[in-house]
Amino acid sequence: MPDAAALEAIASQVRVCRLCDLCTTRIHAVPGEGSGQSGLMLVGEAPGRKEDESGRPFVGSAGKNLDLALAAAGIERASTFITSINKCRPPGNRDPTPAEKDACRPYLMAQVAALRPRVIVALGRHGLHGLLGAMPEDFSALPGTFLAGPQGIPIWVSLHPAAIIYRQKWKEKYLEQWSAFGQWLRSGKPAPIGKSVEGLQ
Ligand code: URA
Repeated sequence: MPDAAALEAIASQVRVCRLCDLCTTRIHAVPGEGSGQSGLMLVGEAPGRKEDESGRPFVGSAGKNLDLALAAAGIERASTFITSINKCRPPGNRDPTPAEKDACRPYLMAQVAALRPRVIVALGRHGLHGLLGAMPEDFSALPGTFLAGPQGIPIWVSLHPAAIIYRQKWKEKYLEQWSAFGQWLRSGKPAPIGKSVEGLQ
């Protein structure tokens, strides 16, 4: 069960964090939200403009595509915990630098420890980097598959919801993979590390 008090304590630290320069340009830090009761933690890259304005994760166009994925999988958004590896918006939505990711990683690891999720979903390459502490060499083969993650918790890899915005083919694949992921979740089976969720049915 998630430790809600520990999660709130981390969020309070994140909101006043000054560990990297992104604090000088942010409007709001975005610690993450959701009960985590479903045992699902979702990890993206960094807040965009809408998230910076509101202090909430995935509320812009990427958030709409995340909602489509959750619907395809039959997962209620409020039952998950959604965050990103960087809690503050990089100016102009540039990629977070390795130093910015390193500065923010302890918050992510503390959130994993407080949530103890059944599975962590890495939303894109940068989310996976934050979780593993290393950048995967070839990300393209990983979406749909399970990897061994931090603190003994499996990771399931998804394309980043923003990556599919103008790519219809990728969008179909993304939704198929999320649908198969939902079936795996409901099956109660252990995570098949190294295998794709599409081969499980
Ligand atoms: N993209 C992310 O990776 N995280 C957000 O919160 C919003 C968009």
